[in-house]
Amino acid sequence: MHQPIPTTDLASGPRVPVLGQGTWHMGENRANARAEADALRLGLDLGMTLIDTAEMYANGGAETVVGEAVSGRRDEAFIVSKVLPSNASRSGTIAACEASLKRLGIACIDLYLLHWRGRFPLSDTVAAFETLRRDGKIAAWGVSNFDVDDMEELATVAGGNKVETNQVLYNLAERGIEYGLVQWQAARGIPVMAYSPLDEGRLVRHPALVRLAKAHQATPAQVALAFLMNRPGVVAIPKSSSPERVRENRQAADIRFTAQDLAAIDAAFPPPRAKTPLAMI
Ligand code: NDP
Repeated sequence: MHQPIPTTDLASGPRVPVLGQGTWHMGENRANARAEADALRLGLDLGMTLIDTAEMYANGGAETVVGEAVSGRRDEAFIVSKVLPSNASRSGTIAACEASLKRLGIACIDLYLLHWRGRFPLSDTVAAFETLRRDGKIAAWGVSNFDVDDMEELATVAGGNKVETNQVLYNLAERGIEYGLVQWQAARGIPVMAYSPLDEGRLVRHPALVRLAKAHQATPAQVALAFLMNRPGVVAIPKSSSPERVRENRQAADIRFTAQDLAAIDAAFPPPRAKTPLAMI
C-alpha cells in the first residue's frame, strides 16, 4: 500500500500533486511515441497527474505525445505547457497557444508558462496570457527561469500578480533557489515547479544518495524526489519514458526522512548561504 501523493494549491484554486511528469526529449522519435504516451498514462494511473510539456520540446512533438496520452482522459490530467520567448509577443503568444492546443488535442491548457525571458516586454506577454484566460484557452499562467529580480519586475506589470508558478531548475545538486527565490515565492503563495529534479538522471549515482537509499530500502531517485516533495510549495516533475522508473518515481511518496537523514543530505549537498544567480539549463 503506497502513500498518496501530497498536493499543493495554486492561487486560482486548483490543487495539484507535488509529483508530476516531465516530457523533455519525448516525441523526438516517432518510433518511441507510443511507449512514451504509455509511460505518461501509467503516471496518470498512479496519480502523477500534472504533465509538463512545451512547444519547444521536439518542435511540438512532445505536445503531440501528451495529446495521445490524455486522449479519452483529459479530465484526469493537469496540463502545463510553455511558449517560447521568441513567440511571446501579444499576437505571437496567442498563435503559439492555439498551435499547442491543436497538438495537445485539448480545448484549454491548465497552466501556460513563459519558458524564459526574451526580447518582448513582460507587459505584452502578460496581456496575451490574460486574453487567453478570458477566452478560455488557458486556465492560468506562470513563468519559468525567473529569478527574484524578474519576479519583482513582473509584479509591477498590469496583471502580473496573477502569476501562478515559476518553474526553475531545482534539485539536490542545485539548491541555490533556497536562498531568496523560495522565500519570495512562499510569501506570495506562488508554488515552485522544480525541473530536472534528478539533475537529468545524474543524481542517481551520487554516493550520498546511494547510502541514504539503502538505509530506506529505496532508490537514489526516490530519495532525490522525496527531498523536493517534502519542501512546502514545491512540485517536482521528473521525466521518464520507462514504466519501471515511472513506478519507482511514484513511490518516492513513501519515504519519510528523519532529522538525521536531513542532516546527512545537507552535509552532502550544502544549502546556499548567500544569494546566487539563478541556475538554468
Ligand atoms: P530529470 O531530472 O527529470 O531526469 C530525466 C532523466 O532521468 C531521463 O534521462 C530519465 O530517463 C532518467 N530517469 C527518470 N527517472 C529515473 C529513475 N528513477 N532512475 C534513473 N533514471 C531516471 O530531467 P529533465 O531535464 O527531463 O527535467 C524534468 C522535466 O522538467 C522535463 O522533462 C521538462 O518537462 C521540464 N524542464 C523544464 C525546463 C525549463 O526550462 N522550464 C528545463 C528542463 C526541464 P528515462 O526516461 O529513460 O527513465
